[in-house]
Amino acid sequence: MTAQTLIRESLLDAAAIVLPVRCAGCGRPDRSLCDDCSAALRPAARVDAVSGIPIWSSLPYEGIPRRVLLAYKDGGRVDVVRALARPLRFAVAEAQREATGRGGGDGAGGAALLPVLVPSTRAAWRRRGYHPTRAVLARAHILVPPLWRALRLSRQTADQAGLTATERSGNRESSLVASPRLARRDCLIVDDIVTSGATILEAARAIRAVGGRVAGAAAIARTPLRGGAHAQT
Ligand SMILES: [Zn+2]
Repeated sequence: MTAQTLIRESLLDAAAIVLPVRCAGCGRPDRSLCDDCSAALRPAARVDAVSGIPIWSSLPYEGIPRRVLLAYKDGGRVDVVRALARPLRFAVAEAQREATGRGGGDGAGGAALLPVLVPSTRAAWRRRGYHPTRAVLARAHILVPPLWRALRLSRQTADQAGLTATERSGNRESSLVASPRLARRDCLIVDDIVTSGATILEAARAIRAVGGRVAGAAAIARTPLRGGAHAQT
């Protein structure tokens, strides 16, 4: 073994200690995210609506994007935060462009949308030690800074994962309170994954209750829709 090889081997060993050594999407060794999985996270705009609230998303919540999101949210793979920031930024930009262009959910016209984050439950905070969507949004470098803590939980809810659509809406019902600072603002609800839309509806209800307007929601990923990209769910 030459001195050069020895040095290179030592550097690789050192890197393996500080860097994740398996792709968060497919498990391939030596890369945080391999080229194929990076390509699977390339955003493609999609919009659908839940009870008249448009939802912009960038990725289908299945396959590689789903695995990367789960690795990020529940597998401690915070190294993929930058890779997820791009699709979130894309969804927010699409929402901004379309909602202000066409009038949006509550008729937001022209004004820049204020990003409003859905809060984590205390249990989720304890489990992760950070707010996953907030960390991604902070890396997304969107033009309008979000109003942090614009929504808060008025009671602790169960984790939405593993609940049926009916259970999800019951679990979320009247669980959020919006800051009075949202009054007369054109809000864009931001969440990581939208499945049934129950959380988005509850966030919209809370924002409207303090006199805020809801232009729509933006998410990194959305569960695949039956009946096409523009289907009502
Ligand atoms: Zn991969």
